[in-house]
Amino acid sequence: MLILGLESSCDETAAALVTGDRQVLAHRLAGQEAAHAPYGGVVPEIAARAHVEALAPLVEAALADAGVTLDQVDAIAATAGPGLIGGVMVGLVTGKALAHAAGKPLVAVNHLEGHALSPRLSDPDLGFPYLLLLVSGGHCQLLLVEGVGRYRRLATTIDDAAGEAFDKTAKLLGLGFPGGPAVERAAANGDPFKVPLPRPLKGAAEPHFSFAGLKSAVARAVEDYSAEDLSASFQQAVIDCLVDRTQRALAVAPEATTLVVAGGVAANSAVRAALRGLAEAHGRRFVAPPLWLCTDNAAMIAWAGAERFAAGISDPLDIPARPRWPLDPAAEAVRGAGV
Ligand code: ATP
Ligand code: MG
Ligand code: FE
Repeated sequence: MLILGLESSCDETAAALVTGDRQVLAHRLAGQEAAHAPYGGVVPEIAARAHVEALAPLVEAALADAGVTLDQVDAIAATAGPGLIGGVMVGLVTGKALAHAAGKPLVAVNHLEGHALSPRLSDPDLGFPYLLLLVSGGHCQLLLVEGVGRYRRLATTIDDAAGEAFDKTAKLLGLGFPGGPAVERAAANGDPFKVPLPRPLKGAAEPHFSFAGLKSAVARAVEDYSAEDLSASFQQAVIDCLVDRTQRALAVAPEATTLVVAGGVAANSAVRAALRGLAEAHGRRFVAPPLWLCTDNAAMIAWAGAERFAAGISDPLDIPARPRWPLDPAAEAVRGAGV
Protein backbone atom coordinates (compact mmCIF):
# COMPACT_ATOMS: atom_id res chain seq x y z
CA MET A 1 0.00 0.00 0.00
CA LEU A 2 1.31 3.46 -0.95
CA ILE A 3 -0.16 6.64 0.53
CA LEU A 4 0.47 10.27 -0.40
CA GLY A 5 0.10 12.54 2.65
CA LEU A 6 -0.45 16.31 2.72
CA GLU A 7 -0.07 18.63 5.72
CA SER A 8 -0.90 22.35 5.94
CA SER A 9 -2.68 22.95 9.26
CA CYS A 10 -0.25 25.49 10.74
CA ASP A 11 2.98 26.91 9.35
CA GLU A 12 4.57 23.82 7.79
CA THR A 13 3.63 22.83 4.24
CA ALA A 14 4.50 19.17 3.65
CA ALA A 15 4.03 16.21 1.32
CA ALA A 16 5.18 12.64 1.90
CA LEU A 17 4.92 9.14 0.48
CA VAL A 18 4.71 6.32 2.98
CA THR A 19 4.04 2.60 2.49
CA GLY A 20 1.84 0.35 4.58
CA ASP A 21 4.97 -1.46 5.77
CA ARG A 22 6.44 1.73 7.25
CA GLN A 23 8.81 2.86 4.52
CA VAL A 24 9.05 6.62 4.18
CA LEU A 25 9.81 6.86 0.45
CA ALA A 26 9.82 10.68 0.46
CA HIS A 27 9.06 13.51 2.81
CA ARG A 28 9.29 17.13 1.77
CA LEU A 29 8.70 20.09 4.03
CA ALA A 30 8.67 23.86 3.59
CA GLY A 31 8.70 25.92 6.77
CA GLN A 32 7.46 29.52 6.90
CA GLU A 33 9.54 30.83 9.81
CA ALA A 34 10.98 33.77 7.84
CA ALA A 35 7.52 34.93 6.71
CA HIS A 36 6.11 34.95 10.27
CA ALA A 37 9.19 35.96 12.28
CA PRO A 38 8.59 39.74 11.97
CA TYR A 39 5.19 39.24 13.69
CA GLY A 40 6.44 36.98 16.51
CA GLY A 41 3.88 34.29 15.69
CA VAL A 42 1.95 32.62 12.89
CA VAL A 43 -0.22 35.03 10.84
CA PRO A 44 -3.11 32.92 9.40
CA GLU A 45 -3.48 34.81 6.09
CA ILE A 46 0.27 34.71 5.40
CA ALA A 47 0.29 30.99 6.26
CA ALA A 48 -2.61 30.15 3.90
CA ARG A 49 -1.03 32.04 1.00
CA ALA A 50 2.34 30.37 1.58
CA HIS A 51 0.66 26.93 1.59
CA VAL A 52 -0.96 27.71 -1.78
CA GLU A 53 2.43 28.57 -3.27
CA ALA A 54 4.39 25.70 -1.71
CA LEU A 55 2.13 22.66 -1.78
CA ALA A 56 1.90 21.64 -5.47
CA PRO A 57 5.69 21.82 -6.06
CA LEU A 58 6.26 19.82 -2.85
CA VAL A 59 3.90 17.08 -4.06
CA GLU A 60 5.75 16.90 -7.38
CA ALA A 61 9.11 16.82 -5.62
CA ALA A 62 7.98 14.07 -3.23
CA LEU A 63 6.68 11.92 -6.11
CA ALA A 64 10.01 12.44 -7.92
CA ASP A 65 12.03 11.58 -4.77
CA ALA A 66 10.06 8.36 -4.37
CA GLY A 67 10.28 7.60 -8.09
CA VAL A 68 6.53 7.02 -8.37
CA THR A 69 3.60 8.60 -10.20
CA LEU A 70 0.19 9.49 -8.77
CA ASP A 71 -1.20 6.42 -10.57
CA GLN A 72 0.82 4.15 -8.28
CA VAL A 73 -0.61 5.70 -5.12
CA ASP A 74 -3.42 3.77 -3.39
CA ALA A 75 -4.97 6.70 -1.52
CA ILE A 76 -4.41 10.37 -0.76
CA ALA A 77 -4.42 11.45 2.88
CA ALA A 78 -4.82 15.13 3.75
CA THR A 79 -5.11 16.91 7.07
CA ALA A 80 -8.75 18.04 7.41
CA GLY A 81 -8.30 19.76 10.82
CA PRO A 82 -7.87 20.92 13.48
CA GLY A 83 -5.80 24.00 12.69
CA LEU A 84 -5.84 27.38 10.99
CA ILE A 85 -8.82 26.99 8.68
CA GLY A 86 -7.32 28.76 5.64
CA GLY A 87 -4.29 26.49 5.67
CA VAL A 88 -6.30 23.33 6.35
CA MET A 89 -8.50 24.15 3.36
CA VAL A 90 -5.50 24.52 1.05
CA GLY A 91 -4.24 21.02 1.87
CA LEU A 92 -7.65 19.37 1.93
CA VAL A 93 -8.79 20.94 -1.37
CA THR A 94 -5.49 19.94 -2.98
CA GLY A 95 -5.99 16.38 -1.70
CA LYS A 96 -9.54 16.32 -3.06
CA ALA A 97 -8.43 17.64 -6.46
CA LEU A 98 -5.64 15.05 -6.73
CA ALA A 99 -7.98 12.27 -5.59
CA HIS A 100 -10.62 13.30 -8.12
CA ALA A 101 -8.17 13.75 -11.00
CA ALA A 102 -6.37 10.45 -10.38
CA GLY A 103 -9.48 8.50 -9.37
CA LYS A 104 -8.04 7.64 -5.96
CA PRO A 105 -9.74 7.45 -2.56
CA LEU A 106 -9.38 10.39 -0.15
CA VAL A 107 -8.64 9.86 3.53
CA ALA A 108 -9.35 12.95 5.66
CA VAL A 109 -6.91 12.85 8.58
CA ASN A 110 -7.19 14.53 11.96
CA HIS A 111 -3.81 16.27 12.47
CA LEU A 112 -3.82 15.10 16.10
CA GLU A 113 -4.31 11.51 14.96
CA GLY A 114 -1.22 12.06 12.79
CA HIS A 115 0.76 12.98 15.91
CA ALA A 116 -0.90 10.20 17.94
CA LEU A 117 -0.08 7.39 15.46
CA SER A 118 3.34 8.73 14.36
CA PRO A 119 5.19 6.61 16.98
CA ARG A 120 3.78 3.48 15.25
CA LEU A 121 5.46 4.59 12.01
CA SER A 122 8.91 4.67 13.63
CA ASP A 123 8.36 1.72 15.98
CA PRO A 124 6.84 -1.43 14.43
CA ASP A 125 6.56 -3.04 17.87
CA LEU A 126 4.28 -0.38 19.32
CA GLY A 127 0.89 -2.05 19.79
CA PHE A 128 -2.37 -0.79 21.31
CA PRO A 129 -3.20 0.32 23.92
CA TYR A 130 -0.61 2.92 24.91
CA LEU A 131 -0.63 6.01 27.07
CA LEU A 132 0.16 9.02 24.89
CA LEU A 133 1.39 12.39 26.11
CA LEU A 134 0.54 14.64 23.16
CA VAL A 135 2.51 17.86 23.63
CA SER A 136 2.37 20.29 20.72
CA GLY A 137 1.89 23.95 19.85
CA GLY A 138 -1.88 23.85 20.37
CA HIS A 139 -2.45 20.83 22.59
CA CYS A 140 -1.33 19.21 25.83
CA GLN A 141 -3.26 16.02 26.44
CA LEU A 142 -2.93 12.57 27.94
CA LEU A 143 -4.76 10.03 25.79
CA LEU A 144 -5.29 6.32 26.09
CA VAL A 145 -4.80 5.18 22.49
CA GLU A 146 -6.92 2.03 22.19
CA GLY A 147 -6.80 1.67 18.41
CA VAL A 148 -7.07 3.59 15.16
CA GLY A 149 -9.82 6.18 15.72
CA ARG A 150 -10.23 5.11 19.36
CA TYR A 151 -8.90 7.70 21.78
CA ARG A 152 -9.87 8.22 25.42
CA ARG A 153 -8.76 11.59 26.71
CA LEU A 154 -7.66 11.37 30.33
CA ALA A 155 -6.42 14.95 30.65
CA THR A 156 -6.01 18.24 28.84
CA THR A 157 -4.74 21.74 29.60
CA ILE A 158 -7.03 24.19 31.34
CA ASP A 159 -5.24 27.14 29.67
CA ASP A 160 -2.11 27.13 27.46
CA ALA A 161 -0.57 24.20 25.59
CA ALA A 162 3.00 23.21 26.48
CA GLY A 163 4.41 24.33 23.12
CA GLU A 164 2.51 27.60 23.41
CA ALA A 165 4.17 28.16 26.80
CA PHE A 166 7.60 27.59 25.20
CA ASP A 167 6.72 30.03 22.39
CA LYS A 168 5.42 32.73 24.77
CA THR A 169 8.44 32.33 27.06
CA ALA A 170 10.79 32.67 24.10
CA LYS A 171 9.01 35.86 23.09
CA LEU A 172 9.31 37.27 26.64
CA LEU A 173 13.03 36.47 26.63
CA GLY A 174 13.57 37.89 23.15
CA LEU A 175 14.72 34.51 21.81
CA GLY A 176 12.66 34.66 18.65
CA PHE A 177 10.19 32.36 16.93
CA PRO A 178 9.56 29.41 16.96
CA GLY A 179 10.28 29.37 20.64
CA GLY A 180 10.73 25.74 21.66
CA PRO A 181 14.10 25.04 20.02
CA ALA A 182 15.38 28.52 21.04
CA VAL A 183 14.47 27.96 24.70
CA GLU A 184 16.07 24.50 24.63
CA ARG A 185 19.32 25.97 23.22
CA ALA A 186 19.42 28.79 25.80
CA ALA A 187 18.56 26.33 28.60
CA ALA A 188 21.68 24.29 27.81
CA ASN A 189 23.77 27.16 29.28
CA GLY A 190 21.53 27.92 32.25
CA ASP A 191 20.83 26.64 35.78
CA PRO A 192 17.49 24.77 35.91
CA PHE A 193 17.12 25.45 39.64
CA LYS A 194 18.18 29.14 39.70
CA VAL A 195 14.80 30.85 39.23
CA PRO A 196 11.99 29.90 41.61
CA LEU A 197 9.01 29.16 39.36
CA PRO A 198 5.63 27.54 40.15
CA ARG A 199 4.58 24.01 39.10
CA PRO A 200 0.87 24.64 38.33
CA LEU A 201 -1.47 21.74 39.27
CA LYS A 202 1.43 19.57 40.47
CA GLY A 203 -0.02 17.00 42.88
CA ALA A 204 -3.65 17.65 41.82
CA ALA A 205 -5.88 14.56 41.78
CA GLU A 206 -7.01 14.96 38.17
CA PRO A 207 -4.11 14.72 35.72
CA HIS A 208 -4.88 18.02 33.92
CA PHE A 209 -2.27 20.62 32.93
CA SER A 210 -1.89 24.39 33.35
CA PHE A 211 0.91 26.59 32.03
CA ALA A 212 -0.45 30.16 32.03
CA GLY A 213 0.76 30.88 35.59
CA LEU A 214 4.23 29.62 34.74
CA LYS A 215 4.49 32.01 31.81
CA SER A 216 3.32 34.92 34.02
CA ALA A 217 5.96 34.01 36.61
CA VAL A 218 8.63 34.10 33.88
CA ALA A 219 7.35 37.57 32.89
CA ARG A 220 7.77 38.80 36.49
CA ALA A 221 11.31 37.37 36.77
CA VAL A 222 12.55 38.60 33.41
CA GLU A 223 14.37 41.67 34.82
CA ASP A 224 16.23 39.73 37.52
CA TYR A 225 17.77 36.73 35.75
CA SER A 226 19.62 35.85 32.57
CA ALA A 227 17.74 34.43 29.57
CA GLU A 228 19.79 31.23 29.99
CA ASP A 229 18.81 30.69 33.65
CA LEU A 230 15.19 31.64 32.92
CA SER A 231 15.07 29.22 29.98
CA ALA A 232 16.58 26.37 31.97
CA SER A 233 14.34 27.00 34.99
CA PHE A 234 11.23 27.33 32.82
CA GLN A 235 12.05 24.12 30.94
CA GLN A 236 12.60 22.31 34.25
CA ALA A 237 9.25 23.56 35.59
CA VAL A 238 7.46 22.34 32.44
CA ILE A 239 9.18 18.97 32.74
CA ASP A 240 8.24 18.64 36.42
CA CYS A 241 4.58 19.32 35.51
CA LEU A 242 4.60 16.92 32.54
CA VAL A 243 6.19 14.15 34.62
CA ASP A 244 3.89 14.64 37.63
CA ARG A 245 0.72 14.72 35.52
CA THR A 246 1.80 11.75 33.38
CA GLN A 247 2.65 9.76 36.49
CA ARG A 248 -0.91 10.38 37.70
CA ALA A 249 -2.32 9.11 34.38
CA LEU A 250 -0.08 6.01 34.42
CA ALA A 251 -1.67 5.08 37.74
CA VAL A 252 -5.18 5.05 36.22
CA ALA A 253 -4.09 3.33 32.99
CA PRO A 254 -2.43 0.05 34.05
CA GLU A 255 -3.42 -1.52 30.69
CA ALA A 256 -0.97 0.83 28.93
CA THR A 257 2.30 -1.10 29.02
CA THR A 258 4.00 1.62 26.95
CA LEU A 259 4.34 5.35 27.57
CA VAL A 260 4.58 7.35 24.35
CA VAL A 261 5.32 11.04 23.78
CA ALA A 262 4.55 12.82 20.51
CA GLY A 263 4.05 16.35 19.14
CA GLY A 264 6.51 19.22 18.69
CA VAL A 265 7.54 19.47 22.36
CA ALA A 266 8.53 15.78 22.22
CA ALA A 267 11.51 17.01 20.14
CA ASN A 268 12.96 18.47 23.37
CA SER A 269 15.70 16.15 24.61
CA ALA A 270 15.30 17.06 28.30
CA VAL A 271 11.56 16.34 28.05
CA ARG A 272 12.25 13.00 26.37
CA ALA A 273 14.86 12.01 28.97
CA ALA A 274 12.57 12.84 31.90
CA LEU A 275 9.66 10.85 30.45
CA ARG A 276 11.93 7.91 29.68
CA GLY A 277 13.01 7.95 33.33
CA LEU A 278 9.38 8.04 34.46
CA ALA A 279 8.44 5.09 32.24
CA GLU A 280 11.40 3.04 33.46
CA ALA A 281 10.56 3.80 37.10
CA HIS A 282 7.05 2.45 36.47
CA GLY A 283 8.12 -0.63 34.51
CA ARG A 284 6.64 0.66 31.25
CA ARG A 285 8.26 0.69 27.84
CA PHE A 286 9.02 4.15 26.44
CA VAL A 287 8.63 5.24 22.82
CA ALA A 288 9.30 8.65 21.26
CA PRO A 289 9.44 9.21 17.49
CA PRO A 290 12.64 10.60 15.93
CA LEU A 291 12.83 14.40 16.19
CA TRP A 292 11.76 15.10 12.59
CA LEU A 293 8.59 13.09 13.15
CA CYS A 294 7.67 15.04 16.33
CA THR A 295 7.20 18.47 14.76
CA ASP A 296 4.67 18.88 11.93
CA ASN A 297 5.33 16.80 8.82
CA ALA A 298 3.36 14.92 6.17
CA ALA A 299 4.80 11.45 6.84
CA MET A 300 2.67 11.24 10.00
CA ILE A 301 -0.40 12.25 7.97
CA ALA A 302 0.37 9.66 5.29
CA TRP A 303 0.90 7.04 8.01
CA ALA A 304 -2.37 7.89 9.82
CA GLY A 305 -4.00 7.72 6.37
CA ALA A 306 -2.42 4.29 5.81
CA GLU A 307 -3.71 3.04 9.16
CA ARG A 308 -7.23 4.33 8.42
CA PHE A 309 -7.23 3.07 4.83
CA ALA A 310 -6.06 -0.37 5.99
CA ALA A 311 -9.05 -0.35 8.36
CA GLY A 312 -11.36 0.23 5.37
CA ILE A 313 -11.88 3.94 5.96
CA SER A 314 -12.02 6.60 3.23
CA ASP A 315 -13.99 9.83 2.94
CA PRO A 316 -16.35 11.55 0.47
CA LEU A 317 -14.96 14.47 -1.56
CA ASP A 318 -17.41 16.89 0.11
CA ILE A 319 -15.98 16.30 3.60
CA PRO A 320 -15.50 19.73 5.24
CA ALA A 321 -12.34 21.23 6.74
CA ARG A 322 -12.67 21.57 10.51
CA PRO A 323 -10.90 24.28 12.56
CA ARG A 324 -11.76 22.32 15.74
CA TRP A 325 -11.80 18.51 15.80
CA PRO A 326 -11.26 16.76 19.13
CA LEU A 327 -9.87 13.21 19.12
CA ASP A 328 -12.23 12.31 21.96
CA PRO A 329 -15.53 14.13 21.34
CA ALA A 330 -17.08 12.66 24.51
CA ALA A 331 -14.40 14.24 26.71
CA GLU A 332 -14.68 17.50 24.78
CA ALA A 333 -18.43 17.58 25.47
CA VAL A 334 -17.84 17.91 29.21
CA ARG A 335 -15.52 20.93 28.74
CA GLY A 336 -18.20 23.12 30.28
CA ALA A 337 -17.54 21.35 33.58
CA GLY A 338 -14.11 23.00 33.68
CA VAL A 339 -11.84 21.41 31.10
P1 ATP B 1 -0.96 21.19 17.08
O1 ATP B 1 -0.24 19.97 16.64
O2 ATP B 1 -1.36 21.20 18.50
O3 ATP B 1 -2.06 21.56 16.15
P2 ATP B 1 1.30 22.59 15.98
O4 ATP B 1 1.04 21.68 14.83
O5 ATP B 1 1.56 24.02 15.74
O6 ATP B 1 0.09 22.43 16.99
P3 ATP B 1 3.68 21.07 16.44
O7 ATP B 1 4.27 21.37 15.12
O8 ATP B 1 3.34 19.67 16.74
O9 ATP B 1 2.47 22.01 16.85
O10 ATP B 1 4.70 21.56 17.53
C1 ATP B 1 5.17 22.88 17.48
C2 ATP B 1 5.41 23.27 18.91
O11 ATP B 1 6.48 22.49 19.43
C3 ATP B 1 5.81 24.73 19.04
O12 ATP B 1 5.10 25.30 20.11
C4 ATP B 1 7.31 24.64 19.33
O13 ATP B 1 7.80 25.71 20.11
C5 ATP B 1 7.39 23.32 20.07
N1 ATP B 1 8.74 22.75 19.98
C6 ATP B 1 9.39 22.38 18.86
N2 ATP B 1 10.65 21.97 19.15
C7 ATP B 1 10.76 22.08 20.52
C8 ATP B 1 11.82 21.83 21.44
N3 ATP B 1 13.00 21.39 21.04
N4 ATP B 1 11.59 22.09 22.75
C9 ATP B 1 10.38 22.53 23.17
N5 ATP B 1 9.36 22.80 22.35
C10 ATP B 1 9.55 22.57 21.03
MG1 MG C 1 5.23 24.94 13.00
FE1 FE D 1 1.12 19.58 15.07
